[in-house]
Amino acid sequence: MIEYSISSENPAGHYFDISIVIPNPDPTGQLLRLPTWIPGSYMIRDFAKNIVSLEANSDGKILQIEQLNKSAWQVSGCKVNLKITYRVYAWDLSVRGAHLDTTHGFFNGTSVFLEVVGQSDKPCRVEICRPQCPGSQEWSLATTLPVEDRDDAFDFGFGFFRAENYAALIDHPVEMGVFTRFDFIAGGIRHDMVLTGKFECDIERLKNDLTRICEYHIAFFGLPAPMKRYLFLVMVVGQGYGGLEHRDSTSLLCSRDDLPHPLQTDSTDEYINFLGLCSHEYFHSWNVKRMKPKVFEVPDLTQEVYTPLLWAFEGITSYYDDLALVRSGCIKREDYLRLLGQTITRVQRGYGRKLQSAAESSFNAWTKFYKQDENAANAIVSYYAKGTLIALCIDLKLRQISNHRVSLDDVMRGLWQSYLAGKQGITEYQIQDHISELAGVDLSSFLDRLIYGTEELPLVELLNSVDISLIYRAGSGQQDKGGKEEGEPLNVSAGIQVNEISAGLEVVSVRENGAGQAAGLSAGDVIIAINGLRADMKSYQAWLKRSSVCSHHKLHVFRRDELMSLELELTQAEQNRAILHLPDTMSPHLDQWLSGRPH
Ligand code: ZN
Repeated sequence: MIEYSISSENPAGHYFDISIVIPNPDPTGQLLRLPTWIPGSYMIRDFAKNIVSLEANSDGKILQIEQLNKSAWQVSGCKVNLKITYRVYAWDLSVRGAHLDTTHGFFNGTSVFLEVVGQSDKPCRVEICRPQCPGSQEWSLATTLPVEDRDDAFDFGFGFFRAENYAALIDHPVEMGVFTRFDFIAGGIRHDMVLTGKFECDIERLKNDLTRICEYHIAFFGLPAPMKRYLFLVMVVGQGYGGLEHRDSTSLLCSRDDLPHPLQTDSTDEYINFLGLCSHEYFHSWNVKRMKPKVFEVPDLTQEVYTPLLWAFEGITSYYDDLALVRSGCIKREDYLRLLGQTITRVQRGYGRKLQSAAESSFNAWTKFYKQDENAANAIVSYYAKGTLIALCIDLKLRQISNHRVSLDDVMRGLWQSYLAGKQGITEYQIQDHISELAGVDLSSFLDRLIYGTEELPLVELLNSVDISLIYRAGSGQQDKGGKEEGEPLNVSAGIQVNEISAGLEVVSVRENGAGQAAGLSAGDVIIAINGLRADMKSYQAWLKRSSVCSHHKLHVFRRDELMSLELELTQAEQNRAILHLPDTMSPHLDQWLSGRPH
């Protein structure tokens, strides 16, 4: 059995110390490597760059190590009991990496555990030791790695853990520190939420909401739940957002203000978003952690793995994350339609939807969605947001043509049943074929247009089929996210997004075919004056409010350190903020969709 051990002699320096004992190394040269990416986050991150020292020995004898590339090493001349010791710098406060200081520690196996190549299918044992710093004796440890022997016999102690193979070893993140913790039962299995950081939270309320959400998802796919227990690991910070799914747990990063304050009774947008994030990662326990694209079954972690299917694994998950909130009674129907209106707005505000399909967005996630620059809104569409709308269209279309007897819910349950029967990865057209099969008619050309096309989605018509009216109006300013009527719509558009800085207004992005682009503005320019008066956010908003379409204006702008004078002609504001309205009386079909009750 391969034995890993992780400790820290110097948490203040953000170093984890790791050792691996390999009883039977490859005598022709043992290859060791660290993943370049972490499943669920489609970007090459080269975690090995954080290894600051690496040694190999056997029976006290130091062995030569040859580095083969940015992430791989080879140790030769050793037949038994090869010991590797190394140190990893851990100062990435995100759900994707590793983070350690004297207040807490967090790591993903992808950041700290070298893979013993050739023995990846072998079980391993992991010792997780208490870091050496003042106060760490108060720390607990949370992970879903199966326990072998731990300080605190039942839960949350340091000690020895097991993993059935390397893939499992890197799919159970670990958090250590002083926890706020609660547990609940949903679908017959134990769930824990462990929070670290400084915050005030109405724990009972959060626990009730989470219980409903988890119960909902388990009932959706059907008992039994695919995991034996489940853990939400939450890092609470001043400003932060993120989530990453794992087979039996999720790591979340949230802002202090996302949590429900004990004195607060209403649901803030931030709290609803946090519940949506929990719901999203939890749904992934089925959709992507178990059902997954075929190419993710044994993913090559040394390089990019391409799939056109993220629209389904992220988009359908994003569709059900908020839908589960309304169906489980955590939010009101009006709240749900506001969230959906915001998603429609996100897609409609970007010109990139006309250039890139959801399948292309999925395929190029590595270099485009995950590496967005100032031109992103012009060039790409989000497979999350557009994927959500594709899922909505499929759901409503199925309901419409089957006289409300079949829905996307049935598609997902059907896919889950075939997964349970064969545990096979999903191929490119399998989901589409399954949809047509359930519909009883060939929907391939409809589906191809949604997934591989760039034309506008038939949202108005399909929402109408469940008596929801979708209207578009112009935004009241760049902060208007849509979903609700917020302030007076602007008549004109300057075709730019700006950010207030001390020197004036920094142009963040320039809209394709917009007024700003025609005037010659570029991202990074700093507008210092409009019509001879100093520019700040307040004067900018007032200017847009009182100006008329086709009016001309003089802008003084710094590009780098060069002063420029430009003339800008304001154009008609686009009607791209979506607002959804419920009918006065709820029809059975609408009720069926929003409640998720079977037909
Ligand atoms: Zn996701």
